[in-house]
Amino acid sequence: MTDSLYDVIIIGGGPAGLSAAQYTARAKMKTLVLDKSSSAGALAFASLIENYPGLDKPLPGPELLAIFRKQAVGFGAEYVEAQVIGVSLAGEIKEAFTMDKSYQAKSLIIATGSMGRKATIKGEAEFLGRGVSYCAICDAAFFRGKTVCVLGDSEEAVKEAGLLSRFAETVYLISPSKELKVSSDNPTLAIQNLKVITGQSVTSIEGGELVEKVHLREVGGAESTLDMDGVFVYLHGSKPVIDFLQGSVEVSEAECIMTNKMTETSLPGVFSAGDVTCTEVRQVVIAAAQGCIAALSAEQYVFHRKRKKYDWHG
Ligand SMILES: Cc1cc2nc3c(=O)[nH]c(=O)nc-3n(C[C@H](O)[C@H](O)[C@H](O)COP(=O)(O)OP(=O)(O)OC[C@H]3O[C@@H](n4cnc5c(N)ncnc54)[C@H](O)[C@@H]3O)c2cc1C
Repeated sequence: MTDSLYDVIIIGGGPAGLSAAQYTARAKMKTLVLDKSSSAGALAFASLIENYPGLDKPLPGPELLAIFRKQAVGFGAEYVEAQVIGVSLAGEIKEAFTMDKSYQAKSLIIATGSMGRKATIKGEAEFLGRGVSYCAICDAAFFRGKTVCVLGDSEEAVKEAGLLSRFAETVYLISPSKELKVSSDNPTLAIQNLKVITGQSVTSIEGGELVEKVHLREVGGAESTLDMDGVFVYLHGSKPVIDFLQGSVEVSEAECIMTNKMTETSLPGVFSAGDVTCTEVRQVVIAAAQGCIAALSAEQYVFHRKRKKYDWHG
């Protein structure tokens, strides 16, 4: 075993992934969490959580998430903020690829949640890869000196607009809501080549071979057009985040990952937990519980243990 080989890689740093991480790290498994962004998952979007057991007062989702993260890291899990853009899972060694690096492990847990969304804007699916993108870090360099827009109002959308402003000549941040979900003194909003448009939605994306323009509609109804080379979509909705798996594990018709009671997927050594699975109930407590089971299953797989009943000190 080399130093860089992990016992387990966990993709996703929400309640499912971080619960799994605290169990595997506490069990002395060399654990890596790869998380696209601490502000991109469902819990990060929940303004107040009051039904997670053990809370003595309601907590904003991001605060609860920070506690999950601190606990996992406290037990020795390594947390890296990086988006996984591809995987190789069929062999004994599982690999996860980010833009900068590839990581290897003996087992892998997928916990990427369900904040993906289907293309809803006219032209969005048609121009995917021809100007439409969901990954600024992957595609920003293709838009050097060009005009791009980021659609969304989340902290993640603002962050990605900031990244794009280092490459593109002009970046429009177009938010359907009247207010962005960041404070008005967020330094990204002061970037010179970043223009913020609020209360407007992109109704269609048009072009020839590549994207050329977007049509906008104001909340009140007025319409306008902007010349555009790239459209980065950071609007959220509910769809399991599985694009990076490229069909490597079995999913249902609803595109959720199919698992058994022990969170095993169709591939040996690959487990899945939380909202990305075909779970009946999407709640923090369920995601955390499934993360726990995934961790115990991964531990059993890595150490070739016979199946046994786990208890709290196990
Ligand atoms: C607005 C809102 C309010 C809610 N309110 C409640 C509530 O009151 N009580 C309750 O119990 N539940 C609530 N929920 C549901 C709860 O938040 C989810 O069930 C729970 O967060 C699911 O956890 P998860 O870890 O599976 O996914 P998520 O919390 O979505 O976390 C997924 C993580 O995976 C990361 N990720 C995604 N793609 C990649 C990739 N390619 N590479 C690396 N990382 C990736 C994301 O950045 C994210 O950190 C709410 C959800 C929303 C959206």
